[in-house]
Formats: sequence, C-alpha cells, structure tokens
Amino acid sequence: MKLERSSNVFFALLSLAVAVSFASVSAFAQTDAISLTVDATRTPQKFIPCQEVIPVKPGPLTLYYPKWIPGEHSPSGPIANLTGLKFTADGKTIPWRRDLTDVFTFHLDVPAGVDRLDASFDYLEPIGGGEYGGSLSSTDKLIVLEWNQTILYPAGPTAREIMVSPKLILPDGWKFGTPQKIESQSGNETTFATISLEELVDSPVIAGEYYRGIDITPPGEPIHHEIDLAADDAADLDMSPEVKQGLTNLVAEAGALFGTRHYRDYHFLLALSDHVAHFGLEHHECNDSRLPERALLSPEASIMIGGLLAHEYVHSWNGKFRRPADLSTPNYEVPMKTDLLWVYEGLTDYLGPLLAARSGLWTPEQYRANLANIVASLGEGRPGRTWRPLLDTAVGEPGLGFARGWMNWRRGTDYYDEGDLLWLEVATIIHQQTNGAKSIDDFCHLFHGGPNEGPQLKTYTFEQVVEALNQIAPYDWAKFLHERLDSTSPNPPTGGIENGGWNFVFNGEPIKTPSRHAVADDEYTVGLQVGPDGTVFDSIVNGPAFNAGITSGMKVVGVNGRLYTHDLLEDAIKASKDNSNPISLLVVNDDYYLNCNVDYHGGERYPHLIRNESKPDYLDELDKPKVSAAAAAAASM
Ligand SMILES: [Zn+2]
Repeated sequence: MKLERSSNVFFALLSLAVAVSFASVSAFAQTDAISLTVDATRTPQKFIPCQEVIPVKPGPLTLYYPKWIPGEHSPSGPIANLTGLKFTADGKTIPWRRDLTDVFTFHLDVPAGVDRLDASFDYLEPIGGGEYGGSLSSTDKLIVLEWNQTILYPAGPTAREIMVSPKLILPDGWKFGTPQKIESQSGNETTFATISLEELVDSPVIAGEYYRGIDITPPGEPIHHEIDLAADDAADLDMSPEVKQGLTNLVAEAGALFGTRHYRDYHFLLALSDHVAHFGLEHHECNDSRLPERALLSPEASIMIGGLLAHEYVHSWNGKFRRPADLSTPNYEVPMKTDLLWVYEGLTDYLGPLLAARSGLWTPEQYRANLANIVASLGEGRPGRTWRPLLDTAVGEPGLGFARGWMNWRRGTDYYDEGDLLWLEVATIIHQQTNGAKSIDDFCHLFHGGPNEGPQLKTYTFEQVVEALNQIAPYDWAKFLHERLDSTSPNPPTGGIENGGWNFVFNGEPIKTPSRHAVADDEYTVGLQVGPDGTVFDSIVNGPAFNAGITSGMKVVGVNGRLYTHDLLEDAIKASKDNSNPISLLVVNDDYYLNCNVDYHGGERYPHLIRNESKPDYLDELDKPKVSAAAAAAASM
C-alpha cells in the first residue's frame, strides 16, 4: 500500500479469538463454488449491480462483507457503498438483519428444503471520501474492480477454503487486464476460472474504453510481465521508451535482488485519471496503482512510476509472500495486528526506491534527494517523534493511519519513510559487519527466497527477522531494532546515510532535482506547510509560525501588508536573513482575522545530502544496477 503525496499457507498461530469467531459456523454448504456476477455496464453511472448464488443448507446463516482489507491494514471495507441488498430462495424473499455489534455482518435463516440462496446488491462508487480502494475507483471511461467490494461470503471456512466462480460484464468495447485466468468470453461477458476467495480478493481487474497492455518482460526472463493501462483519454496511454525500458529493468533488477519470484505471471495495473484517488495496493501477481491522468506524459513520469510501481511490486515478495504472522488473518473479519508494518511497509519503502534507482527510473541524485527530504520531514518536520515512537506509528495504523492535519505533532504513517532510513542503516551495518562480503541483497535472497510455487504465504515474527539478519551478519540486531523502534529522540536515524559516506545538511541552496516527495519550502523556515491559496496544512509545533499563533486549518491571506501569494511569502523568508523585523502574516481563523508576527531570521533552508569524502560512497554502490553490472562482469571474463 502506498499513498501518493505529490500530486498463503495458513499458519499455526491463530489465536483463540479466531477459533471463537469460527464458532458462528452457519448454513453454508461448502460443496459448490459461490457464483458471483458483477455487472459493470453502468460504470459511468457509478452503479455496479452484483449477484451471487451461494450454496446453503437450512438453518441460521451468517454472511460477511469484507472488512479488514489485505494491504490496507485497517477495517476499511467500504460497507456504506453496499446497497439494495436482497436475498431470495426458490423465488421467495428471505429477510436479513444486520449484526448489532458489527455492521459488516448479516444474519438470515435459510428455510427447510433450500440449497441455494440468491443474493443481489448494488455497489455504489462513492461520490467523495472513502479510504484507499473504497474511494472512487471508476470514471466515465474506466474501472478498477477490487472484488472484495462486490462480494458477501459465509462465516465459517477460511477465505482460502471458499471457492468462487466470478463473471464480469463490462460496457461494450471495454478491454481489461488482470492476473486471473479466463475460462470463457462471450461479447462483453467474461467468466474467470474458479478460484478461492483469497485469490479473488488478491486479483483485481482494470478495465476501460482506453486500454493498453504493454509487455515488459526482460530478455531471457521466462515469466511473463506486463503493464495494463486504463486512462480517461487515449492520449494518456503514450508510454515513453525510457519509462518502458525502466519498467523492464525494474523486473530484471527485482529478480536479481530477491533471486526468485513467487508468482506465475505479473501485471502492473495502472489507472490514469484525475478523478480516482492516487495510491497503490499490492497483490501477489499484480498491483492496483493509480496516478494522475497525464502522469505518463509528464516530465516526471519516471519519478512517479519509480516511486509508486517499484514499491507495490516489491510487495509481491515483501508483504504478500513474506508477511507478519499477526497481519495474516484467515478471513477479512478477523482484526489484523499491525506492529510489524515497519518491516512490511518500511522495508518495502527502502527497497522500492533502491530498485527505482537500480533500474534507471530514478537517477542517483533523485534517490539521494528523496532520502534528504525524508530526513528533513522526519526531523525538523516531526516534533511528534518526541512523544510517539516509530513502533507506535505502526501499531496505531488501523485507527490513526491517514488522519489529516497536524501531521508534525500527530505523526502519520511514518513507518514507511522511517522504515526507509532504518533499513538503509541495516544495509550499511551488514556491509560493515561482514567487511563487504555480504549485502542487503543477501538478506533479501535469504528472507524472500525459496522456490517459485506461485502465490504462497510464509509468515514471520520479530524474532524470525532478527534470526535471518543474524544468518547474514552476526550482530545484536534485536537491541538495534528495539532502539530504533522505541526511540523518542527528536532526531531521525541517519546512521545509514552517514555509514554510506554522506551527511545530511540544511543549506540555502534550492533543490534542483525533482524527487518523489514534494518539498514544502516553508516547512523548515517559518515552520508552515501552506497551499497555493494560503491554506495551512501543517504548522510545526513550537516553530516560528506556531509560536506566532498559526495552526493547521487556518488560512494565510496577507504577507507584510499585501494580499497573500506564495511568492510574497517566499520573498519575505528570503529577506528575513537581513531583517530584524518579524514577518507579518494576516491569517483567517474560522471567520476572524488574526495578525501574526513570525519571528524568523534564517533565510531559505533546503535539505541536502553532501558527500563525506573521508568514507567510501557505499550509498552509490548500493543503488548501482546489478543486472547490467553482472552482465558486464560476465562479458569481461
Ligand atoms: Zn506498501
């Protein structure tokens, strides 16, 4: 999972609580597959009728709407969009009632003599709001179908045990991409092969009027890889040869990093639209990624593609194949525990940019600029780290994850970015402890390795992460990790950058390299994140603007006596260095004007990494391409 800023082998550790929840075994007759038909012909109206035929036996039946969505790490199933719910059997209506303590749970009684239940409901694409996949997933021209939104499933068996035969009906002429196997096609109706509910929820479909599939399998790679694009206009599908090559390199470099794959084939599903939310959601054999409509046409196409798609792709190994045991639940009703997200997301957030750089989607300068921005945003930009340690940002995810405003003090999903710094430090410690004999690639080979048996789940615990690290480089990893996870230091962990031969600094030199993180110019000076219209997104607690009375949610409307523009604020910050007067900001709070005098005299400040010539440049060594390097080494032998 990743929110864009700019712009299964089941395991033995199921808790007693799980066993108890299974006690509500109901009248599901686990003999046949559930047949599911999703009618997406009215996608432009955002109205998706769904029909299910569920094999049942007489008696009480409990059905669930998927609640805890894999990769979303929270009870984010879009239950409010489930409407028009009706059940019938043999032509007679069967009444239903919602559970009094869980709105995702429905109860009904199956009459005597009935062996199949017909369920019908309409999934409404939300007009606004919603989280992740539950936000708007369709436009006039395209749809991303995440199957968890269009199915009710019976209590009792695991998601792996429930079989589903899915059928999808699309608007005339629309094409689609998915890792699912097609059983038959007739006109605009496609019947997919029967698969488990677990696999179905893991295998979304992207479809649209404007669709293009592009093969990105590297030469000599036996497994097929493609990117399936759907966009709001035909012109948006124009991928440059550089981006295509970068994606092909990404597939090759990921193969080299992990030494194996855990999928039968792989599809990057990419929706290009300004109407859908922009984020990515990982699956074993595909990812559901969503970027602005003209992303591929932008000069920053490689940065965006490298930032989002490399992250989601890494999840096929780290997150889907290897997953924390307590995030691996038997169905979508059992709550997930999120304490190891600093591995699931944090290691992914380190390896994604690393692969983006190795594959040429990012330049080494862009890779370093990204790290510099992370250090700044987690250091001066995050006084909240003095009360909330990294571990708690992971544990608190289900309730607090993507809260808006006051991020500097609240902290957000910092286990992503801080995970990047933490795992970079791990990579440099492996290098140091083994005198260069081993690298983070060896850890990935060990931790994410094993034969390719298609989508599999191999769970892990904290202790098993430590054990794997010790197999690569003996070290007190448990102590190191606990220190990083429990720290309330105001300073972010920059050990990896320093071990890698670089130092983090603020200076007055503007950042020339565009990178994944949009830099708020004012955050590290007056302590404000301000939108183009003056809206204050964040005000660093105890920063100059905060101390002048400005906080999140207010709006700056004047700078030194003139109507606010962002340029004027920048001018005032620049001039502050030679000026003993405060910067005067006129601010609107609710419907009152406030005059705020910001006592700041430091001029412009931008985050940078600068080379420390006394140490070897291991940072650069790490992000060099491995596939072409290996090919060059082989050629020179
Ligand atoms: Zn992720």
